[in-house]
Amino acid sequence: MNKQIRKMLLMILLVWLCILHVDINVSASDSNGKIVNTRHQKYTYTEMLNDINKISEKYPDYIHVSIIGKTVDNRNIHDIVLGNPEAPKCVMFQASAHAREYMCSQLVMRQIEYYLENYNKRYKGESYHDIFDKVCVHIVPMTNPDGVTLAQKGVNGLRSKSLRKKLKRMRGIGNPSNWKANARGVDINRQFDYKFPRGRSLNKYACYAGYGGPRPASERESKALLYVVNTYKPKATVSYHAMGNVVFHGYKCDKTTSKKMQRLTAKIKSITGYSYLYTEPGPGFANYINYKKHIPSTTVEIGMYTTPVPSSQFPTVWKQNKNVIAAVAQMYE
Ligand SMILES: [Zn+2]
Repeated sequence: MNKQIRKMLLMILLVWLCILHVDINVSASDSNGKIVNTRHQKYTYTEMLNDINKISEKYPDYIHVSIIGKTVDNRNIHDIVLGNPEAPKCVMFQASAHAREYMCSQLVMRQIEYYLENYNKRYKGESYHDIFDKVCVHIVPMTNPDGVTLAQKGVNGLRSKSLRKKLKRMRGIGNPSNWKANARGVDINRQFDYKFPRGRSLNKYACYAGYGGPRPASERESKALLYVVNTYKPKATVSYHAMGNVVFHGYKCDKTTSKKMQRLTAKIKSITGYSYLYTEPGPGFANYINYKKHIPSTTVEIGMYTTPVPSSQFPTVWKQNKNVIAAVAQMYE
């Protein structure tokens, strides 16, 4: 009898271990793609280029890539269209306008791969295929690739001698991992024509963060974002930043846009579990799009405690965000 019970307990334990093992494998392959590696800290511009190429080769029918700008240090800014590029509607996502927030690029690249891997699977009663067939998504996966390179590799990561020379005189260059601006020391999220230049600009001169530049959209990165907005007229825009686990909310724009914005932020809040952060007027991208373009827009801040967000937080960020793009697209069918 005792022997039998021991045998049964052993069997239960074995079955339980098997289930656990399968579970671990499933969740690991879920957040770490076959192409996009989410298990390391510094997701570089070059790595992203390789991933874009591999994903495009693997899923040529559902992904269309174009170059929407070239930075001063000669890197391309990409617009990846997920789904049907001829869809009657689209939404827009952009990531890593701020250099040190490069986990956002890793996140959107993995989101793209995940939807394509599961293209016929259902989300809220509808396949990803059907969602992105009706509403395509324009994704700018790394808005500020020069800045990202600078934050990851320091000033010597940049190609241009004259840029390096100028950068060496800028405040904050001693601690490049903290860099937010582009390679000219302009903060891309202080660059837009809403309450410019007073707004919330922290600095009057080119440096690591907070300088809005000589005039609105003077920078190629800002122009690239505006190109997507003006050309494709998205129904909503979402900007990924880090960190704070918050969704920016409470833009006091006109009534109609305000209502639409609240619908958008409520959806993202419900999926991610993030808190609302009430925003103040300033020359940020989401502000400009809400107030001047009357398109509902928000900023989502991923990760906790510190930037760059440590890679150990990626699995949590993934669970919170993996369906955000699909859910936002689905809102506008
Ligand atoms: Zn940011």
